[in-house]
Amino acid sequence: MGKIYRFGNGKADGGAELKNLLGGKGANLAEMAKIGVPVPPGFTLTTEMCNFYTEFGEEALKDSIWNEIKDGISEVEDILGKKFGDSKNPLLFSVRSGARQSMPGMMDTVLNLGLNDEIVEGLAAITNNPRFAWDSYRRFIQMYGDVVLGMTPESKEDLNPFENIIDNYKKELKIKTDLDFDVQNLRILVDRFKNIISERMGIEFPQDPYEQLWLAILAVFRSWMNDRAISYRAIEGIPSNWGTAVNIQSMVYGNTGSDSATGVAFTRNAATGENYFNGEFLINAQGEDVVAGVRTPWQITKKESIEWAIRNNISMEERERSQPSLEELMPEVYKELYKIQTILEDHYKDMQDMEFTVENRKLWLLQTRTGKRTGMAMIKIAMDLYNENMINSEEVIKRIKLSKIDELLHPVFDTEKINVDVLTRGLPAAPGAAVGQVVFFADEVEKYEKAILVRLETSPEDINGMNLAQGFLTVRGGMTSHAAVVARGMGKCCIAGAGEIVIDYKKRIFRVKDKVFKEGDFLSLDGSTGMVYEGKLITKAPKLDENFHQILEIADKLARMEVRANADTPKDAKKAIEFGAKGIGLCRTEHMFFEDDKIKAMREMILAPDTGGREKALAKMLPLQRDDFIGIFEVMKEKPVTIRLLDPPLHEFLPHTVEKQEELAHEIHVPAGKIREAVEHLKESNPMLGHRGCRLGITYPEITVMQTRAIIEAALEVHSKGIDVYPEIMVPLVGKVEEYRLQKQLILDTITKVFEEKKNSVRYKIGTMIEVPRAALTADKIALETEFFSFGTNDLTQMTFGYSRDDTGTFLPTYLKQQVLEVDPFKVIDTEGVGQLMDIASTKGRSVNKDLEIGICGEHGGEPHSIKFVNSLGFDYVSCSPYRVPVARLAAAKAEI
Ligand code: ADP
Ligand code: MG
Ligand code: MG
Repeated sequence: MGKIYRFGNGKADGGAELKNLLGGKGANLAEMAKIGVPVPPGFTLTTEMCNFYTEFGEEALKDSIWNEIKDGISEVEDILGKKFGDSKNPLLFSVRSGARQSMPGMMDTVLNLGLNDEIVEGLAAITNNPRFAWDSYRRFIQMYGDVVLGMTPESKEDLNPFENIIDNYKKELKIKTDLDFDVQNLRILVDRFKNIISERMGIEFPQDPYEQLWLAILAVFRSWMNDRAISYRAIEGIPSNWGTAVNIQSMVYGNTGSDSATGVAFTRNAATGENYFNGEFLINAQGEDVVAGVRTPWQITKKESIEWAIRNNISMEERERSQPSLEELMPEVYKELYKIQTILEDHYKDMQDMEFTVENRKLWLLQTRTGKRTGMAMIKIAMDLYNENMINSEEVIKRIKLSKIDELLHPVFDTEKINVDVLTRGLPAAPGAAVGQVVFFADEVEKYEKAILVRLETSPEDINGMNLAQGFLTVRGGMTSHAAVVARGMGKCCIAGAGEIVIDYKKRIFRVKDKVFKEGDFLSLDGSTGMVYEGKLITKAPKLDENFHQILEIADKLARMEVRANADTPKDAKKAIEFGAKGIGLCRTEHMFFEDDKIKAMREMILAPDTGGREKALAKMLPLQRDDFIGIFEVMKEKPVTIRLLDPPLHEFLPHTVEKQEELAHEIHVPAGKIREAVEHLKESNPMLGHRGCRLGITYPEITVMQTRAIIEAALEVHSKGIDVYPEIMVPLVGKVEEYRLQKQLILDTITKVFEEKKNSVRYKIGTMIEVPRAALTADKIALETEFFSFGTNDLTQMTFGYSRDDTGTFLPTYLKQQVLEVDPFKVIDTEGVGQLMDIASTKGRSVNKDLEIGICGEHGGEPHSIKFVNSLGFDYVSCSPYRVPVARLAAAKAEI
């Protein structure tokens, strides 16, 4: 096995397919080199070496790879005709980390490695550009100090020690940007940097390039285990054994003067998904400058540059003078970059996020990767690529990250109700609406339930706080700044580069125009427009866009299973239809009775002393329930509607406080004592295992009769309007086939009676829930008698584990922490245990009744892992809450691909 993989000069040892071994960056550098994109030559140390180092330590690593590294260096020297460590014609390297999956800013990079006090002079001489040489040296010492030597700020209100020195020196010289430093100034900075290193670390800055390189490699490997990398992995669910690769790449220089630049570009808009090339750059700068938001970058395209000027009230003349686009400044370079971005997108068939550097008007690509994007952009880009014939329908569905769908359903500001003035505006870097209280430090976000993080710029240390905040507002930086990239990844709202804001971290305030805001004040951010508002704005539900509907239709064609919704009211049913449900998989009849008038009738029924009294109360309930069903059937039309007969224990319907009991007594003219007695009588030790489900229907058959009558009368009424309704009557909590048989007979008798009375009929099904383990185990007996099974996985999980689902709060967190359980089994189906029962039940059921319809209606019906599992069992449908229907439709399609 090779330990280093070379790239550059039109060829490479590796390629995009070796992402796991070379990390994303290394694999794509190799791929770009192979397809003829200009990439500075270098080589990659594999992720296996990272794990090797973690396991066996430095000495073993050095024994294992040092010779190969030296070979790699000589090859680059031969290609470029320069020499590492040679002051006459020095070769410098960047040492770059790169994990399998991109972790923006999480791992550290060192540029210009190989400089020392002597070589810097050589570089100055050979390039005839001392300013450039010294700028590179001061950058190198700064990055090396940060990353390899671990120099940190003194406090969170403070800048890092090198930035501090730069800031103070700027003040001393009365200059504005780092571009104003001359050679002499840079020499002094280098001295001050070296001094603070020896003061704080007690070591001299290492002068031997090979030592620099070795320590930098170790630092990158170690950074895989630093706190912020660990936090990021925890948030994103990245395993720690992936490791990072290290890329050792020859330097190209964006800081040689006004003919050089560095930038970041996207083939499409990462926030909205719109198909146009865009990005940002800085003249006379090196890579990190753009991403870190040190200077506010300029726009690559003229179009965006003009839009930027309009947004910031800057005249066109002023724009051309002070921040023209790359397109205008270096038209040849722009043209080549444009061509390369097209090549890369066509090659990878997805939106690319690229890093480039221009050295004396020669363009180099330093990185390409699949661009992170918002949920909205994800949908639009997938659909556009499909329409452009770049990807097929299966690929469209693969591109959809289900965790990002929620973003599309997030509320937006109700623009009709916005009558407050815009406070200020910035770049709409990540869409969404955020309302919260101002905080200035990431580690203080948790002080507020909803916080808006307001900062000059964010940095990788902020990742935990950012994860808890509602949205980010930054003063500096653009679309590619840390805050913007992280926001889009997390699905949060971000406004970047709101340059009118002046922050004072020490006083914990910010000023805009003549207003002052302190920590804790409320702000509203509209990440889709870049507008910042004072106070709290009102939000509303978003509308699903056309692209999303089209993607869902593609999903339906690929999926085998149907998606139904759990809906108890006509309003829910409408939502279900809007989200594309193919029926109702669970209509809980008891929910209808929790409303005002109906609960009264229900209570009367429960309190009735005998069958006669119950029947009287039930007669009052019949029309109420029938009307509910009529409403639902009218919405659902010919789609199936699975209606579950009364399920919960009756005491749930009775008032439990003395006051409420007295109120009720008064209302229904029953003595309060009677009510108290009834409540006492109905009390159970384990109500969820008590008198509920079909046990109710068997002890009080008149309830089943009334409900069946209400369902069938409603169905007939809607049917008479020419709608071919399709009720499915479902018996809950069956454990023995005899229970089901008794209920089924009652239901059938009632249906026959109603059909005769009304001299009409409708189609219908009668079936059962499978939620008691015994039912699952004896499913072949039950299936002979029934037309459908619907798995109630909440109860099935409860009874299989023996966990009361209402009491898990006391031990589940500990179980999860100690990994007794990997996940909460009430969220994701426990395939090993509960899943086995489902497998047994469906297999046995189908073995005796091949037409048996099988579905799931528990909470798991909307959860992607569980959907995949029931798809593998050959279920016909899943049913979930209306809002989960889009996700379930996509998950059902993914399960088939
Ligand atoms: P990150 O993963 O944080 O983006 P990178 O390894 O991509 O870190 O490095 C950050 C920046 O440093 C790059 O965007 C690029 O501009 C610059 N850079 C890295 N390697 C080189 C190189 N060989 N020559 C010039 N600039 C480089
Ligand atoms: Mg990068
Ligand atoms: Mg149940």
